[in-house]
Amino acid sequence: GLVLGVESSCDETAAAVLCSERGLLSNIVASQDEAHRPFGGVVPEIAARAHMSKIDTIIDQAVSEAGVDYAELSAIAATAGPGLIGGVITGLMAAKGLSASLDIPLIAVNHLEGHALSPRLTDVCPFPYLLLLVSGGHSQLLAVHGLGDYERLGSTIDDAAGEAFDKTAKVMGLGFPGGPNVERWAKDGDDRAVRLPRPLLDRENCDFSFAGLKTAVARAYENSDKTDRAKADLAASFQAAVADCLTDRTARAMRLFTENYDGPHRFVVAGGVAANQTLRAHLIDTAKAHGFTPIFPPLKFCGDNAAMIAQAGLERLQAGRVDSLNAPARPRWPLDREAARTAPASG
Ligand code: ATP
Ligand code: MG
Ligand code: FE
Repeated sequence: GLVLGVESSCDETAAAVLCSERGLLSNIVASQDEAHRPFGGVVPEIAARAHMSKIDTIIDQAVSEAGVDYAELSAIAATAGPGLIGGVITGLMAAKGLSASLDIPLIAVNHLEGHALSPRLTDVCPFPYLLLLVSGGHSQLLAVHGLGDYERLGSTIDDAAGEAFDKTAKVMGLGFPGGPNVERWAKDGDDRAVRLPRPLLDRENCDFSFAGLKTAVARAYENSDKTDRAKADLAASFQAAVADCLTDRTARAMRLFTENYDGPHRFVVAGGVAANQTLRAHLIDTAKAHGFTPIFPPLKFCGDNAAMIAQAGLERLQAGRVDSLNAPARPRWPLDREAARTAPASG
């Protein structure tokens, strides 16, 4: 099979072509960072317009760089949610148009399933595996049982990890997007310089909380002398606090997972925050201590991309799980089976 993937749920307009025999043939990602930078965050209306103006060209580019013809495609997979609705609609409608005109199946992919399956683009990663999904809008620990079968072990009760990075950067004026900038500043800082809270570490479940940490960072910055040294120290201290929260919750999830499943045990970290090298190092240690093989997708597959959407699409195509042209765009769309059962189809 030859699947075209389309991604437009946040501020990356992306398209990729994945072949079941020859692997990833193209992977185009157009970032809108420049457009959103003046506002210090993603502006939904600007994002939607940028997707609109670029989507056709990006898709064309992905198909031509793959060296294939539209007529050779076996299916189109597009993110149908969750995300900013204007962007999701743009990509999904483009995919529906292609699906109808080429008379090939449409696959409406959950963006989070794309992140969840992203390790399978490059690594041997059979089900089941433990997944830490840390992105701009989500922070969850999931047992991935199979395609479309996700069991939530824990999730954030307030902000996502990526959101905490973005807000920390914004408070200190480190620039947009926040994650990479906080990481860069933290390199020159002392991670024990500022005492920050580690919410929920004593809890019996695997839930996260990052809102209190964000507030503490804002207060610490206000009370600091705001020099470059103070910024670097606070960035490093913040990153260390996030690392402690992620590793503590992950260790709990690993114990749960080990009780329920025979080895070998694999631990995947996916989503934009998985790009962070300090967090990676800590999570690798946690994995090793609990007998898990750590798997981190390459950096280009951590942040939003269409290769992971094509991967989810190809797996769904092979399982015969294709969608009709009625597939709705869903601004909210939980991944795990409990939440998916109780959530409305859209909204
Ligand atoms: P979601 O996937 O939940 O819908 P999203 O698609 O916006 O949200 P991603 O693109 O997967 O999220 O990830 C973006 C997030 O990752 C941002 O919050 C960004 O700050 C964070 N991020 C990117 N690079 C790094 C890094 N090096 N360190 C920490 N965070 C990072
Ligand atoms: Mg982005
Ligand atoms: Fe994402």
